[in-house]
Amino acid sequence: SRPEVGGTTSPEKLLAPVLSAFWDDPKSWTLETYERHEGYRGLRKALAMAPDDLIAYVKDSGLRGRGGAGFPTGMKWQFIPQGDGKPHYLVVNADESEPGTCKDIPLLFANPHSLIEGMVIACYAIRSNHAFIYLRGEVVPVLRRLHEAVREAYAAGYLGKNVLGSGLDLELTVHAGAGAYICGEETALLDSLEGRRGQPRLRPPFPAVAGLYACPTVVNNVESIASVPAILNRGKDWFKSMGSEKSPGFTLYSLSGHVSGPGQYEAPLGITLRQLLDMSGGMRPGHRLKFWTPGGSSTPILTDEHLDVPLDYEGVAGAGSMLGTKALQCFDETTCVVRAVTRWTEFYAHESCGKCTPCREGTYWLVQLLRDIEAGRGLMSDLDKLNDIADNINGKSFCALGDGAASPIFSSLQYFRDEYEQHITGRGCPLDPAKTTAWA
Ligand code: NAD
Ligand code: SF4
Repeated sequence: SRPEVGGTTSPEKLLAPVLSAFWDDPKSWTLETYERHEGYRGLRKALAMAPDDLIAYVKDSGLRGRGGAGFPTGMKWQFIPQGDGKPHYLVVNADESEPGTCKDIPLLFANPHSLIEGMVIACYAIRSNHAFIYLRGEVVPVLRRLHEAVREAYAAGYLGKNVLGSGLDLELTVHAGAGAYICGEETALLDSLEGRRGQPRLRPPFPAVAGLYACPTVVNNVESIASVPAILNRGKDWFKSMGSEKSPGFTLYSLSGHVSGPGQYEAPLGITLRQLLDMSGGMRPGHRLKFWTPGGSSTPILTDEHLDVPLDYEGVAGAGSMLGTKALQCFDETTCVVRAVTRWTEFYAHESCGKCTPCREGTYWLVQLLRDIEAGRGLMSDLDKLNDIADNINGKSFCALGDGAASPIFSSLQYFRDEYEQHITGRGCPLDPAKTTAWA
């Protein structure tokens, strides 16, 4: 039960269906459907430009990376050295696995050609002749659909030798990962793609300098690259007419949890959670929002006080969190915050690659303490210990996974310390005492 889709970028309608504009079409994933909806027109415009002008155009559009960090896409392309005599690579990170994040996989399933078109444009810009898609391996139906879309693109002359007579030769390889969250970290992804165990590399050098096979490499998120064709086709001013000055454009939000209308919503950056909930049917009937994540569990949680925070990079940062992947996980008053944080922390402990001590040991200790508190075996001194361990992980780990694990600890203690204390003084969960026996 998706809300009415506006079909326009007008602010009254709030939704801006671009990537998701024809997801409901029968066979939306085929080349024929894509071409009927402006498909591969952006590429034709891009190929008429000089590569450096194309990079400048994407930079001027203000497009920022949709994988979570918000790094300017055009600037990343500009980092690729030219005339260095080395091969250049484009690697698309489709290893979506941040808890709550569900936008790249649906996008690939419904509209894979938007990514392929964006990849051809990006490769022309950075002078690359080989591009890769690193896909989360568990999503086999998406893998099949992607392979079929790549086959169609080769047959139509959008990939292969001399793309549309431009002189660009481009090979595209689809690679399925094996289900490790850490392989979404860009350098671990590159190691995995090279056939090694996926563990983060030291940065710098960033992939733009030494990436795949030690060559200059652009690593971009699926949604970032898939957004490029529409920017070329409709113009950078159209793109900049949405969102804010520093966070322009449209984007995909994943709404999940105790809401009436979970799913993907495409809207300009800067929309608020209150507006998204109003459009999607709100929280489930009879319940109210207690806490939520702006960008999955790696971003500090927010509360019902933050319903009107603009969902763009600056707005969410101003509220003390991060926009991240725009995975809006919403929890109502029936949710025990200690239980939710325990589940997330178990995830990080399980997915920690073990390379550095703060994350490997710290996430393990956090889980032990949280399980004790949840089961009514905690001590008041455990709360300071939680903070202390998280503090020794945050900023002291080798990659962003460690920081992500610390986020829910800090923020839940900031907003819900009283609920932690109630678990300790009441010897169990104040919301659902029956659950406290689970770990006993
Ligand atoms: P980052 O800010 O360190 O880097 C962002 C991008 O910019 C990278 O591609 C990096 O190579 C590039 N970059 C940054 N500085 C550069 C420089 N000086 N020169 C050249 N390139 C430079 O962020 P990160 O550690 O890569 O990623 C963290 C983000 O990942 C978090 O914000 C989180 O939201 C997100 N995340 C997403 C998922 C998912 O499933 N999509 C999962 C976990 C985390
Ligand atoms: Fe591995 Fe965690 Fe260290 Fe990242 S922070 S390198 S996931 S142990």
